[in-house]
Amino acid sequence: MKSKTGCLICGEELVYQTDYKTMECYYCKKTFQSNVSCINNHFVCDHCHAQSGMDLIETYCLNSKSVNPADMATEIMHSDKISMHGPEHHFLVPAVLISAYCNATGDDTRLEKLRIARKRAEKIPGGFCGTHGNCGAGVGTGIFISIITKSTPLSKEEWRLSNLITGRSLISIANHGGPRCCKRDVYLALEEAVRFVKEKFNVGLESSKIHCRFSKFNKECLKEECLFFAGC
Ligand SMILES: [Zn+2]
Ligand SMILES: [Zn+2]
Repeated sequence: MKSKTGCLICGEELVYQTDYKTMECYYCKKTFQSNVSCINNHFVCDHCHAQSGMDLIETYCLNSKSVNPADMATEIMHSDKISMHGPEHHFLVPAVLISAYCNATGDDTRLEKLRIARKRAEKIPGGFCGTHGNCGAGVGTGIFISIITKSTPLSKEEWRLSNLITGRSLISIANHGGPRCCKRDVYLALEEAVRFVKEKFNVGLESSKIHCRFSKFNKECLKEECLFFAGC
């Protein structure tokens, strides 16, 4: 998002040292011997550097220990691999929710859950919000609940909960109006989902006050009219 040449995370310049030291990859959390990081000490391994945006979301969510889905989404969205607006956000929402939920509950089946979420999210095309009245970030919360409840079209309570969370997310997204912003819609959907898992499953995920740092990349940004606008 920040730059096409510098650090994948913050866009700052990369610094090459003469000696090698042990560094942890920002995305996969594995450690490597390396002599390059950015001036803010971010290090990304070669494997993660070569990944697509969708793969990067999966890698990050597979290895994160966080229980704060909005913070996780912000970290991932800072990558150059994630567009300002684009259908990868449809996978981002259920992916960070699955990861945070598994971290909070000790569920050890996150790889399987992430793969299912990705398969389902890939079916939601870009621009779905404008053409089907059905923002993919909102649908992402329905994918998340359907996976953790193991809902099918024949389920009763699981079916109810899966549709209910999508409905709540879409109402929140709709109430803030267009034009679409994948960042705002992701944050709104995640806020609804954090409230929902507390209310329905008594699972406490964390949330943060959002100060959006993506405004300067969004030519349709609502600026002061957006509740996440932080003045840049
Ligand atoms: Zn950096
Ligand atoms: Zn890595």
